[in-house]
Amino acid sequence: MNNKPAILGGPQVRTAPFPKRRTMGEEEKQAVNKVMDSDVLSAFFGSPGELFLGGPKVKEFENNWARQYGFKHAISVNSWTSGLMIALGSAGVEPGDEVICSCYTMSASASCCFFYGAIPVFADVDPETYCIDPDSFEKLITPRTKAIIVVHLFGGAASMDRIMAIAAKHGIKVIEDAAQSPGILYKGKPLGAIGDIGGFSLNYHKHIHTGEGGMLATNDDEIAQKARMIRNHGENCIETTGVEDFSNFVGGNFRLTELQAAIGIEQLKKLDRYLKIRQELAAYFTEKLSAIPGLDVKQNDNPNNSYYMYPFKYHSEVIGLPRTLFIKAVLAELPAPSDFEDTALAGGYLKPLYLNPIYQKQIAIGKKGFPFTLNAEVKYNYAKGLCPVAERLYEKELLLSPLIREPLALSDVDDIVKAITKVVHNAAEIRAAFPDVDDSVNDYV
Ligand SMILES: *Cc1c(COP(=O)(O)O)cnc(C)c1O
Repeated sequence: MNNKPAILGGPQVRTAPFPKRRTMGEEEKQAVNKVMDSDVLSAFFGSPGELFLGGPKVKEFENNWARQYGFKHAISVNSWTSGLMIALGSAGVEPGDEVICSCYTMSASASCCFFYGAIPVFADVDPETYCIDPDSFEKLITPRTKAIIVVHLFGGAASMDRIMAIAAKHGIKVIEDAAQSPGILYKGKPLGAIGDIGGFSLNYHKHIHTGEGGMLATNDDEIAQKARMIRNHGENCIETTGVEDFSNFVGGNFRLTELQAAIGIEQLKKLDRYLKIRQELAAYFTEKLSAIPGLDVKQNDNPNNSYYMYPFKYHSEVIGLPRTLFIKAVLAELPAPSDFEDTALAGGYLKPLYLNPIYQKQIAIGKKGFPFTLNAEVKYNYAKGLCPVAERLYEKELLLSPLIREPLALSDVDDIVKAITKVVHNAAEIRAAFPDVDDSVNDYV
């Protein structure tokens, strides 16, 4: 057998493409056609009345989601980015409030603060969960702290017990960004509404999707009411609510269509099956990778994980290759990915958010520094070095596989393992051929 690495001109471990993710079936097509036949593609009305809360498919989708995962309220939205804005508004966040955010996540998990004039303050992540570190959270609390946005990254759960205890002690609202962890329990409780409000993304790349979309979840009646108002021009309806506090009722149009809801109803039926497949593939991948020194998969022995992406850690000094070269060499052994969901191995995830220009320059809304200037006595710190754990994961340690997903079989996972093993065994030869490659360049995942 010719075991020369493919990156050095040897044969690939596998040339046949991996099975493609196929998200839409006959069920979704038929559901969409029924809505087409009805001609009512959205039934929402932005003024008081029966249709303020949307049409039949929107309501059915919300009721099904709430029932399936045990939420008192499920509120659909046109994206989870909209959902995050609504979550902050309905939690009562105001200009000048500080909101403690994870620095290691998709940008919207923090930039949602700007729409209410709040200031994101970044906490570091726990290297075991990749989610916000409760100690880092606690250290950042000030009298101005109004909320924390907890992100359940890659499909796992943050340390909610400790976060909830700290938040309760200081009267801080807890918002859960569970975009990557739908249908997952934390100690028996469904992620998304362990805190005050949270929710899920339904964009194309997520486990289930409606093209674009999202779902808020909460067990709090008042928060739910305000969220439904912000979703649909709430300023028109304040007087019908009976509330005295009119703050944060200004709304947008963040409504899901009947077409999307009809798709969502069918998608939701598939979620638990998708999760089970991913959990089985991930357990197998973990078992195989745990035999390879230099790869740290020990945090992945948790079956209660949605495996949106499969994360693990890389130790270049053990393997003997910079991470960028390792990824390149592994990918060379496998068929070229046609999209992100087809990618067997990626590195780093996303740059810690505070390193983006919006924080570096402290200019978000307008040109005068709003909202960073609202608390004149405070100078906000977004300097490199702020969150060393996230920086190390991003720059050196984190590996991700978005390919551990349905409809792969265990034999497909075997090929990924073979590719990784082959590169590990030939690391010295690969390094000798590429002596100049270092880790200074970070390609986005
Ligand atoms: C996908 C995602 C979002 C944004 O969701 P959209 O529906 O695309 O707006 C926010 N946070 C996290 C962690 C995500 O993965």
